[in-house]
Amino acid sequence: MIKNGRVVDPSQQLDAVMDILVEDGKIKALGKDIAEAADEVFDATGLVVTPGLIDVHTHMREPGLEAKEDIISGTKAAAAGGVTTVACMPNTKPVIDTAIVVSGIKERAREESYANVEVIGAISKGEKGEELAEMGDMAEKGAMGFSDDGHYVKSSRLMVLAAKYVTAFDKPLLCHAIDPELDSEGYMHEGVVSARIGVPGVPAISEDIAVARDCIIAEYTGAHVHICHVASKGAIDIIRQAKKRGVNVTSEVTVHHLTLTDEACADYNSATRVNPPLRSADHVQAMREAVLDGTVDAIVTDHSPHAPEEKDVEFRYAPNGFCGLETSLAVILTDLYHTHVFDLNTIISKMSCEPAKLFKLAGGTLKEGSVADITIMDLNKKWTVDSSKFYTRGKFTPYEGKACTGKAVATMLHGNFVMRNGVVCTKK
Ligand SMILES: [Zn+2]
Repeated sequence: MIKNGRVVDPSQQLDAVMDILVEDGKIKALGKDIAEAADEVFDATGLVVTPGLIDVHTHMREPGLEAKEDIISGTKAAAAGGVTTVACMPNTKPVIDTAIVVSGIKERAREESYANVEVIGAISKGEKGEELAEMGDMAEKGAMGFSDDGHYVKSSRLMVLAAKYVTAFDKPLLCHAIDPELDSEGYMHEGVVSARIGVPGVPAISEDIAVARDCIIAEYTGAHVHICHVASKGAIDIIRQAKKRGVNVTSEVTVHHLTLTDEACADYNSATRVNPPLRSADHVQAMREAVLDGTVDAIVTDHSPHAPEEKDVEFRYAPNGFCGLETSLAVILTDLYHTHVFDLNTIISKMSCEPAKLFKLAGGTLKEGSVADITIMDLNKKWTVDSSKFYTRGKFTPYEGKACTGKAVATMLHGNFVMRNGVVCTKK
């Protein structure tokens, strides 16, 4: 029994102090002052109780890249951050492009992980952009969707084929929509800061051009195209226009593209290198507006851990990406909730309910009968980001040393606590 928490569940337009009774991994009852006896009572007085957070863009690095992360370390990081479901991208070694690899990851996750793991299969074999991967077989084994994340599918012909193919089994294409030729010569956002510090920049139109094509393909084929990590105001406006025309396109934005600008790169900190790059304040503002007007469907981390020896190098040589699962909720609460940019309803919608609906996942709701994946948060908890305490193997974060207000204090997965007071629980 989770008692006396402020239950915020946008899936039922709910925001009230209530009790939640959990039994056999499911939510048995939700209501005021539930009288039924429970084996264990969690006093949530003063805390907020929400559907477990769902992050549809992460890199668990399995198989093959375990020096960066694996399913255990990655899902421990998720549990620590209040995240109960992660979707993992297929740019692993080998690439997740066959049914057997999809089943292998799902099986290992079922037995050993601290969060639900959804698997995203590759669109093309080896993410090489030449031949379609066995998407039908992967869909049969439960792949959530398909992506060549890390790479743009350069061939429009192949992308149209992929889009026609996935409509047959109703799965989305998650597009890393960045033009690789415009993208390859820069290391950060092209703008005033890149000019000032003398680092070659990537123009925002590298996204706009690629996003436009993928929206056109969605419109032409009717396939569900989900645009990953949108960070350009031009790109988000193209998505907005497409949605208005009724195109089956959805989008996500990362926590860092909502909260950091390219000024963060000004001291050449390699922890700030990411793709798409941190952009200028006008782009950040456009992303915030797009969350509020519904153009953005999901807030994600793009959690991309790297081994210390890979990332701890000069700005230009550092690989793109950093970890995010242990800071995502806290950073959003600190920089966007406490500053009155987003309300709690918007945050929980975009970090749980909407992604669940979009990708047909269990969770994202506290309705009676649904899976007991629950996040309990303290909106006012003060703490400082210290990556040495992280569960992830990829210790690099642009938020190092950040003073935060707000944190997940308990995470429940299938009715069992996997994290309490910031400590990941040992598996039963
Ligand atoms: Zn990507």
